[in-house]
Amino acid sequence: MAKPLAVYLHIPFCRQKCGYCDFLSFAGREDLFRPYLEALVQEIRLLAGERPPVATVYIGGGTPTLLSGEDLASLLQEVKAATWLDPAAEITVEANPGTVTLEQLRVLRAAGVNRLSIGAQAGQDKFLRLLGRSHTAAQTGATVAAARAAGFTNINLDLIYGLPGQAVAEWRESLEWAVALEPDHLSCYCLQLAPEVPLAKAIAAGHYRPVVEEEIVAMYYETLRILAQAGYEQYELANFARKGYECRHNLFYWEYRDYLGLGLGSHSFLSGERRVNEEDFPNYFAKVAAGEEPVAVREKIDAGRGMVEMVMLGLRLTKGLDAKEFFHRWRRDLRGFFSPRLEILLEKDFLRWEGDNCRLTPKGMLASNRVLVELLDVHL
Ligand code: SF4
Repeated sequence: MAKPLAVYLHIPFCRQKCGYCDFLSFAGREDLFRPYLEALVQEIRLLAGERPPVATVYIGGGTPTLLSGEDLASLLQEVKAATWLDPAAEITVEANPGTVTLEQLRVLRAAGVNRLSIGAQAGQDKFLRLLGRSHTAAQTGATVAAARAAGFTNINLDLIYGLPGQAVAEWRESLEWAVALEPDHLSCYCLQLAPEVPLAKAIAAGHYRPVVEEEIVAMYYETLRILAQAGYEQYELANFARKGYECRHNLFYWEYRDYLGLGLGSHSFLSGERRVNEEDFPNYFAKVAAGEEPVAVREKIDAGRGMVEMVMLGLRLTKGLDAKEFFHRWRRDLRGFFSPRLEILLEKDFLRWEGDNCRLTPKGMLASNRVLVELLDVHL
């Protein structure tokens, strides 16, 4: 039997477009909710012939919770009908505070959704306003309480640091606020802005003070310190969990395993082929209506590129990259493939071996981008 997949379903709708966002999502397109759901169901049904085994499902966006609990539950039902969904599958829905009700969460929980990922982003309303978010910190607290009341025992909060004008003490305050909500998992990302988004333009125009590198470093160390103290284990550069609550879906990406993306603009990685779905609605609708996979781009990943990608993703994990697994997959020795750069980075204490695993040291984690560029330079 084929290896189980991680399945991602994209819901490309939002209440309003946040000032830092370059994800594929659209505000004010309620007219497309129904046709899009119908097309997505058609795309899911294309799987019924093969019925692949599925280990995790992630409904993300966008803002999936703009759709009703019943609509999301029926998508899940379609996945169950078209695949072999593991009865113990991790099933996540992304929820934005202010867009969810207790009733809707109860419907999701009853439909088998067992993990909720909440876009909290910051604990202070002034930063939520700056980001262009449509919710308040109090609404995040209310969403967590409603999720617990609906029976969710696996809750993630997304947070962003390095916000324009943010002091290290304010980030600390956000972390402590989030910890007090007792989530099971926290994702803490440093703000990255594409040049065309409104917040990047406002910074370029001098309306906000960008955070400097030393502050980012201090914020990262505060993240490690506060979350470790609160009992969360770092398992990936930006991800922290109570024991046993690591995100199984995202581990598929970092462990370079196969995943299938369904919906507008979704990405898949299947048997060494990367696929990207159509990114505009008319093309997506037309292909699905014709009974075709709505794929716009297919790219075969050769072994050289595959090895580089596996290293780039695997080193994000604190457990690092398993050299035996690397050999099993590519029939190449990890040390040999990256020699002599690997030895240099080991000597400089950016990387370390632990048994068969090569992993970033804390110093290496902080400079992870630079370490990867140095390591992979000859192969890029
Ligand atoms: S809610 Fe998320 S996907 Fe939607 S605009 Fe904001 S950041 Fe982008």
